[in-house]
Amino acid sequence: MCCAKRIVIIGPPGAGKGTQARRLSKEFGYSHISTGDIFRGHVEQKTELGRRIQDTLDRGELVPDPLACEILAHRLSEADCANGYILDGFPRTTAQALALETLLEKRNETLDVAIQLDVADDVLVERLTNRRICPSCGKIYNLESNPPVKPGHCDKVPCNGAVLEHRDDDKELTIRGRLRVYHKTTEPVLAFYEDRAILDSLECSNLGPDEVQAEVMAMICKVQTA
Ligand code: AMP
Repeated sequence: MCCAKRIVIIGPPGAGKGTQARRLSKEFGYSHISTGDIFRGHVEQKTELGRRIQDTLDRGELVPDPLACEILAHRLSEADCANGYILDGFPRTTAQALALETLLEKRNETLDVAIQLDVADDVLVERLTNRRICPSCGKIYNLESNPPVKPGHCDKVPCNGAVLEHRDDDKELTIRGRLRVYHKTTEPVLAFYEDRAILDSLECSNLGPDEVQAEVMAMICKVQTA
């Protein structure tokens, strides 16, 4: 018997899905799959797909379900996913949750747990407007609660003072739009996983990243899989 190894993290933008998924992937040796990172990678590389989805991402809207599902299916087919994976940002609609279920059935797999990180909207707006990201190592800073030592630059030695970035979709107007999309389109996914009896939820408006990590690790370890 071992802990959960196929994990979905669901929560509004800024809830800490990426931070937790990165930490958990290190702790458990699972692959961290962020569809948002994959899409942003395409935009940065100016691929044909990147050019098609750039406006959608900038507006904080969702890319169409078939495209998101195709990207996810392709990523899951890579060898590193055999040990376990943490999905961060997928599924975001009930249609995506159903498509994932079908895909996993074909692979003879099931999801072990869906973890909801819940945070109040006002806390999220404050977090995201202050969020800065190192383009080199992915470290996330907050200008108020976790600022870099040298303003505007990453602290990590290998990043050599990389200039921190403010994601275009982390501006207040876009954030409010992304929160609307989350409440309307992604929240129904919670009911989907509740029906499958694999949903576990954590209210983390007042918790720091270490406290959230401890709680989430306990959630993962209490699920026993064959
Ligand atoms: P994230 O980094 O997870 O906040 O995702 C950034 C953006 O990528 C979102 O606002 C969407 O435009 C797009 N995106 C990421 N994952 C999905 C998904 N599963 N379905 C549709 N759009 C997505």
